[in-house]
Amino acid sequence: MGSLKGKTAVVTGSTSGIGLAYARAFAGAGANIVLNGMGVPADIERERSGIETDFKVRALHSPADMARPAEIAEMIALGESAFGSVDILVNNAGIQFVSPVEEFPIEKWDAIIAINLSAAFHAIRAVVPGMKKRGWGRIINTASAHSLVASPFKSAYVSAKHGIAGLTKTVALELATFKITCNCISPGYVWTPLVEKQIPDTMKARSLTKQQVIQDVLLTAQPTKEFVTSEQVAALALFLCGDDAAQITGANLSIDGGWTAA
Ligand code: NAD
Repeated sequence: MGSLKGKTAVVTGSTSGIGLAYARAFAGAGANIVLNGMGVPADIERERSGIETDFKVRALHSPADMARPAEIAEMIALGESAFGSVDILVNNAGIQFVSPVEEFPIEKWDAIIAINLSAAFHAIRAVVPGMKKRGWGRIINTASAHSLVASPFKSAYVSAKHGIAGLTKTVALELATFKITCNCISPGYVWTPLVEKQIPDTMKARSLTKQQVIQDVLLTAQPTKEFVTSEQVAALALFLCGDDAAQITGANLSIDGGWTAA
């Protein structure tokens, strides 16, 4: 019997990458799961039913678009009505766009701020009343090393991730006496579709080859010279859900191969 048996976790952006690893880690500990994110319906259904089969829990998929506040509230309501509560919220959905600031498309700026920052506010706003009523909750935000340091050509992403770090601290203080913790996890480079997709734009922006981007732009920041894995990030999130982490709140936890130590 897992330590999260009887609990429900909503993980935004969990049809891929780090989010899917969180969902599978929580399911492995016995939680029911609300998956969320975009993708090919057949692929999403395979991941959803795979979680139910592999871990003997229930899993639903919410197609809520994290750029739309009303759909975010519906996603939380779906978890509460289907499973009775939402005990764990992971704000993880994220997109990236790489461009010099003076050429940065306005609609890309708006989308990154909406999906990577404002969506977390809307989801927290919707989930907190139920958590307060039940006297227990875990809110985990996927920030980034870019919540602590910047890189050129990522103005919107770095702004959103610095914002998430501030939101995390504020929410932690507000909920400190309710047995609800709020923390953010700040990974360095994790090999996921998000990282893979930004390589062509970085090649263009910096006139580099693919191998140069991987070695000289991505892994150059990471002293270990290795990518972080999604499973390592998920294991940290699972620890934050346990009783041993009850006094960890308002923290920004780096898992970045030493990047932000430099
Ligand atoms: P990914 O591209 O593999 O996954 C992103 C997920 O977000 C997908 O499930 C996608 O469908 C979903 N998503 C995108 N737009 C959405 C929208 N409008 N509504 C709902 N869902 C949406 O990326 P990933 O690397 O797993 O990134 C997950 C999080 O981790 C992001 O917040 C990212 O900023 C952060 N992060 C990633 C890295 C990395 O190196 N990969 C490093 C630090 C932080």
